[in-house]
Amino acid sequence: MSLFMDMSITCPNCGAVNRIEAVESVNADRRPDLRDAILAGTFQVSPCESCDEPVRLEPQFNYLDVSAGLWIAAYPGRLMPDLLEIEDSVNEVYRKSYGAGAMQSAQAVGEVLQKRLTFGWPAVREKILLRAEGIADAEAEMLKLDLMRRLPEAPLAPGIELRIVDRTGDGLVLIWVETVSETVLQEFTAATALLDEIRGNAEGWAPIRAALENGPFVDMQKLYMGEGRAVAE
Ligand SMILES: [Zn+2]
Repeated sequence: MSLFMDMSITCPNCGAVNRIEAVESVNADRRPDLRDAILAGTFQVSPCESCDEPVRLEPQFNYLDVSAGLWIAAYPGRLMPDLLEIEDSVNEVYRKSYGAGAMQSAQAVGEVLQKRLTFGWPAVREKILLRAEGIADAEAEMLKLDLMRRLPEAPLAPGIELRIVDRTGDGLVLIWVETVSETVLQEFTAATALLDEIRGNAEGWAPIRAALENGPFVDMQKLYMGEGRAVAE
C-alpha cells in the first residue's frame, strides 16, 4: 500500500500555512499513478490555499517498484551533506524490510530489488526514469563524469547537480539544476553512444564503478564530497 500523513508546510510565496497529505511510502506496483506523478513533477505539489502558487513538499519517503526491481529511500536535497549517516540508517531499514532481517517472503522480493538512496526531487525522478529506460544508473553516473571532462564550462558547485531528465531520438537530455530550488541552469543533449563507449571500457571504469556502487547512494557527487566511505576489498 501507499501511506500518507498530514503535514504542515509554509508557502514560500505568501507565508500561509498549508495542510498537505505527505506520502511516507509509495508502492508503484499498486499505484502506478504515483510513479507517473513523480516523473511528471506533479507529485506532492498542490496550490497554496491562500495565494494559489504551487507548494511542494520535500521528498521523504520509501519507493517500491517490484516490477521494475527498484527500491528507493528518497530524502530531501538539503540533507545530502549527512550522506554517510543516512546511508547507514537506510541500509538498516532495507535490511529489516527486504534483507537478512526480513521475513522469508520479503527477502525473496528483495532479491530482485536494487536498493538506492536519493537526495532531492531531480534525483529520485532520474532513478525511476533510468530504470524505465533500461539504463544502469552507475553507467549514467559514469557518463556524467565523462561529460564533465568534456565540458570545461560546467557550472559545477555545491548544491548544483547534473541530472538526466529525458531520452529522445537525439540522446539523453541532461540539466544542470540547483538541487533544492530545482532551478534549471542549463540543458543539453548527450549522444547515447557515449554510454556504449563506457560499457566498452569496463576495465578502465572499474575503480569508479566500484566507488559508485559502494552503498545505496549511487551518485557521482559522492566522489567529490570529502573522504567518503572506504571501498571494501
Ligand atoms: Zn501562498
